[in-house]
Amino acid sequence: MGAIIQTKNLSFSYDNMHTVLKDINLEFFSGKVYGIFGRSGAGKSTLLSLLAGLETINENQIFYKDIDLSSLNLDRYRSHDIGIVFQSYNLLPQLTAVENVCLSIELNNPKNKDKIKKAKGLLRKVGIREELFNHKILKLSGGEQQRVAIARALSYDADIILADEPTGNLDPETEEEIIKLFLNVAHKENKCVIIISHSREVKKHVDVCYQLINGRVTI
Ligand code: ADP
Repeated sequence: MGAIIQTKNLSFSYDNMHTVLKDINLEFFSGKVYGIFGRSGAGKSTLLSLLAGLETINENQIFYKDIDLSSLNLDRYRSHDIGIVFQSYNLLPQLTAVENVCLSIELNNPKNKDKIKKAKGLLRKVGIREELFNHKILKLSGGEQQRVAIARALSYDADIILADEPTGNLDPETEEEIIKLFLNVAHKENKCVIIISHSREVKKHVDVCYQLINGRVTI
């Protein structure tokens, strides 16, 4: 199979004056973890937003399963085909771990009758202990919250997981566990995982590294 998502001569500017990304040609395949590295301001978050369909782009620049992203229904794309993991987890603090994952399943498929069972299965898969399932989010450690966020990103079986500095708030040991989890998600569940990061530890473990320098990619 070809790339699940790819960019073709992708250039982008927020204001039509300063080009943030210049002529980016990248292919991302299922079953691999990609790391995109670079200094602050290099354009990493911009690239991730474009891949997530969060910014408007011109035609023929990003293709999801060979279909031009600019021709897709982006609400559907964002709610079915990609899962996003953030540095600060972005879970709903007033809900429990199970409820956070259930809500995501429900938003994607309101008719799902087994959402609690599915949510619990996902939480087990990402290594959350059973006794934490019904704890409110703020009672969980940073690493546990990030695991719940990854379970949420997996909750509707998206093909692509995009992660924005997912280990930025974690200690080195927890960081290593979260990196292993992403590697498992890609290698065992055949997802395409794309991580933007500053971390050397992430760089050491991903399958493919890309470096962004002033909006251009080097390998
Ligand atoms: P990184 O994630 O590598 O730190 P960004 O993609 O956030 O880089 O930023 C790249 C450039 O785009 C920076 O010069 C930044 O100021 C600019 N930029 C980012 N977001 C916006 C925005 N919403 N509007 C205008 N300029 C932006």
